[in-house]
Amino acid sequence: MQSTMQDRPLTINAIFEHGRRVHAESEVVTFMGEGSRRASYGEVAERAEKLAAALKRLGIGEGDRVGTFLWNEQEHMEAYFAIPAMSAVLHTLNLRLFPDQLTYIINHAEDRAIIVDDSLVPLLARVAPDLKTVEHFIVVGDGDASALGDVLRYEELLASEEIGFEWPEIEERSAAAMCYTSGTTGNPKGVVYSHRSTFLHSLAVCSGSVFALTERDRILPIVPMFHANAWGLPYAGWMAGSDFIMPSRFLQAEPLCRLMADERVTFSGAVPTIWSDVLRYAEKNPVDLSSIRMIICGGSAVPRSLMERFQVRFGVKIIQAWGMTETSPLAAMAFPPKECCDEELMDWRAKTGRIRHGVDLRITDGDQVLPWDGTAVGEIEVRGPWITAAYYGDDTPEKFHDGWLRTGDVGTVDSKGFIQITDRAKDVIKSGGEWISTVELETTLMAHPDVIEAAVIGVPDEKWDERPLACVVLREGADVTADQLRAFLAERVAKWWVPERWAFIDEVPKTSVGKFDKKVLRARREHNELQVIEVG
Ligand code: ADP
Repeated sequence: MQSTMQDRPLTINAIFEHGRRVHAESEVVTFMGEGSRRASYGEVAERAEKLAAALKRLGIGEGDRVGTFLWNEQEHMEAYFAIPAMSAVLHTLNLRLFPDQLTYIINHAEDRAIIVDDSLVPLLARVAPDLKTVEHFIVVGDGDASALGDVLRYEELLASEEIGFEWPEIEERSAAAMCYTSGTTGNPKGVVYSHRSTFLHSLAVCSGSVFALTERDRILPIVPMFHANAWGLPYAGWMAGSDFIMPSRFLQAEPLCRLMADERVTFSGAVPTIWSDVLRYAEKNPVDLSSIRMIICGGSAVPRSLMERFQVRFGVKIIQAWGMTETSPLAAMAFPPKECCDEELMDWRAKTGRIRHGVDLRITDGDQVLPWDGTAVGEIEVRGPWITAAYYGDDTPEKFHDGWLRTGDVGTVDSKGFIQITDRAKDVIKSGGEWISTVELETTLMAHPDVIEAAVIGVPDEKWDERPLACVVLREGADVTADQLRAFLAERVAKWWVPERWAFIDEVPKTSVGKFDKKVLRARREHNELQVIEVG
């Protein structure tokens, strides 16, 4: 039997039109260090129309990829709408990739044009001679761009267009945007989102059991718009009519705290390393975080101590989220269950997250599907309408399993759908045939008052095959010893997990999206560049 429902396509165009019409006065604010630029949704929408018209005039057509090499700023928002809504494909470029990876992804995606912030011209110019398909560089701002040769200026292009662009009819399953994973192993892999997947993801993200966005929110997306679409915030927030406070390139703790106070930010999202910096700054300086109703943190395990300190000292609620570029990215959120009592709140919030509506999850041990009992450990697999079914132009059958995406994350799931990630498959340590969770060792170590960062990697061991090596960054002036840290751990994790090998380092190397880069640490150890001490 056929339904009687209308069949309107789920498109970014629909999100765009809704926001501009219903929330025309909501605003997009771009921080400039001192002062801010402000534009209403109505103005942003008109400029998006002109951008689409300009791109069309340049010959950009259906399915063509247009790269963005931009901060979180107003023009990025304009590109987020103009490019997909005109039937081209938005390709957000990670500003922090190594040049060879950046070259690889631009060539692999075959970007025809790139919109670049003038402050980032030198970075892009390093790879420009190797780009095979790019015909136009469109520069935002009027700074020097000579390093890129002949360029077009964003404002000039917009100035020569009229409003009233005729958006094409879009098929909801067509490509809207693409994003490459940051390639911690091998070349980055591309994920192509559809209009439909973006629309559905946005609805989910707005909903009460995810971010609960409304027009009363003032969203500060610190997570870059090239990192899994800033976790879906630009589209979801626009759908809800929230104001956006764009931090641009001012991503240090001091300007972020100033911005949160001055703009009365209600909602923000970033990886744990950013929030640790903000916390350390806020604990020493006068700050006002009173407007914040929720902070989303994810991308790597969120230390419980970080959430506790924000909660106790500032009354700020950090909620952990889990997802990946391949999952659009939202897949799980760690809201405690309703029956949990006050004393247990943090235990639940410290879990990785509870699977959200729209995403199916299972854990497997090779072929066998494991029970949701909170103890069986296996690889997490997901499927759903905003989960990728393939990588763009990359044949990787090993990443999929009977229609499920293999996430590469290892962990448990309990009967209520709460997952606890113990490791990424590539980081697991198997000691004497048993798994040691590097995630748990790290988050526990980071709860020690003298420890700022901790990353644990596996090293070969004659007796146990593999043992953990803890690489630790201490607070300035701290003189805690490895033995004391061992004693601290021994009270909190299984005794046989406690590392014998320790390295005190100045900083844990970070990936292009601000996560601990264990690949670099492993390489440093192999090349004897870490000073490792053995105790115990
Ligand atoms: P990359 O793979 O380049 O790091 P992604 O942001 O797509 O970029 O990474 C997704 C991965 O980040 C997940 O597979 C998982 O390993 C990790 N991750 C994300 N959120 C969490 C979390 N809350 N706890 C632990 N790991 C997380």
